[in-house]
Amino acid sequence: MKKMSIIRYVGVEGRISLPKEFRELNQIDSHTTLILTKEEDSIVFSIRSDHCIFCASTSNTIVFKTHNVCKKCVGTVSEEYKPVTEMSKVTYEELLPKKIREYHNLILSHPGIKQHEAAQILGVSQQRVSKMKRKIAEVSHLLSHGNIY
Ligand SMILES: [Zn+2]
Repeated sequence: MKKMSIIRYVGVEGRISLPKEFRELNQIDSHTTLILTKEEDSIVFSIRSDHCIFCASTSNTIVFKTHNVCKKCVGTVSEEYKPVTEMSKVTYEELLPKKIREYHNLILSHPGIKQHEAAQILGVSQQRVSKMKRKIAEVSHLLSHGNIY
């Protein structure tokens, strides 16, 4: 993996903010837990990903085919599942960061949803929704031109 370095300053209260592009690239969102490990002359941030992929809960999670899922969501799978009708949807989703997948799922379940409504539901700015919409269109364009399988 390519080495990546970013410079961040620690705020008065000990806070560090991570650039949006960095968070999206590494699929870090507001539910992500980071573990700081002191090594010889460096501090390493690792991503602790034990939250449920559906609801972000960290209690009663189990690993199901490499994904963490909470027992509550496992219990509702049979009630809420929808068959995948187009193979491209699966490929499409794999190309997108988690937050964008959430937005994509929102569009699929609420076809006429307005950007400001989606922003409110996802807890992000309307600008971010607009960018996510462009990213989805970009990926969709690549898929329709057969560059990605
Ligand atoms: Zn869950």
